[in-house]
Amino acid sequence: MSPTPPVTRFAPSPTGFLHIGGARTALFNWLYARAKGGTFLLRIEDTDKARSTPEATEAIFAGLKWLGLDWDGDAVSQASQAERHAEVAHELLEKGAAYKCFATQEEIAAFREEAKAAGRSTVFQSPWRDADPATMRNGPYVVRLKAPRDGETVVDDVVQGRVAWKNETLDDLILLRSDGTPTYMLAVVVDDHDMGVTHVIRGDDHLTNAARQVLIFDAMGWTRPAFAHIPLIHGPDGAKFSKRHGAPGVEGYRDMGYLPAAMRNYLARLSWSHGDEEFFTTEQAVEWFDLDAISKGAARFDFKKLENL
Ligand code: GLU
Repeated sequence: MSPTPPVTRFAPSPTGFLHIGGARTALFNWLYARAKGGTFLLRIEDTDKARSTPEATEAIFAGLKWLGLDWDGDAVSQASQAERHAEVAHELLEKGAAYKCFATQEEIAAFREEAKAAGRSTVFQSPWRDADPATMRNGPYVVRLKAPRDGETVVDDVVQGRVAWKNETLDDLILLRSDGTPTYMLAVVVDDHDMGVTHVIRGDDHLTNAARQVLIFDAMGWTRPAFAHIPLIHGPDGAKFSKRHGAPGVEGYRDMGYLPAAMRNYLARLSWSHGDEEFFTTEQAVEWFDLDAISKGAARFDFKKLENL
């Protein structure tokens, strides 16, 4: 029996242009889907109303199109799914896997101060976790997941290997804020599940989020996707690659006259290799690409190499 074709996704937050790190994440998701006869989806994570702009969404579309990374179906807006996210939070409440927490900011701060003074862990332990429903307050509440208190949460990451977190270090994460809006953590999990995503390939700055996200998958009884957290790109000085290094967005390279094929080749080589091949066509990359060839170490962005392509 042939394995089920993978479903991957690129899930950028539309807060600026498509930067090099995002473009590489998109490329790896696209390559993996195309290599394995799967599906590559695009989700615009536009839940942060204050920072998301339509211009940034357009810039992401344009950058992906220029790079030749075609996505399957229509791009999904995360904000448009808010009702569905809240529905899942309520399902978790009904199952007893989540609870209403009425603790105020002041009460949480007082808990932390007391714990600190007593030399205990300052991870907030809500008194509402096991409260009798009859004692509930009338005031505003957030919905929190009942995270396991003992043992470990383990993620077997395709790139990073086995990563474990002691559950005592993870708090009961918030699923719904006091205004009823879903948190990022909940939205990502519900969308990945609903979109049938089988492989979450993204920057390793999201690795600790995976620890929280798998708990939501588990609480819902949903199959976890495979996770592949790829190392961040560093600038020539070893620091995280950013605008500070004079790094333009993808459209900047387009305007400088770089060819999409050269850019794809260059981006693929950041963290992925195939033997000693330095140059390859996109068809070859699609033929050769696999997640187990992604390296764990940080990738270096080298302007000279790009110029020579
Ligand atoms: N929206 C997140 C970002 O742009 C990515 C979330 C994810 O891939 O799970 O960093």
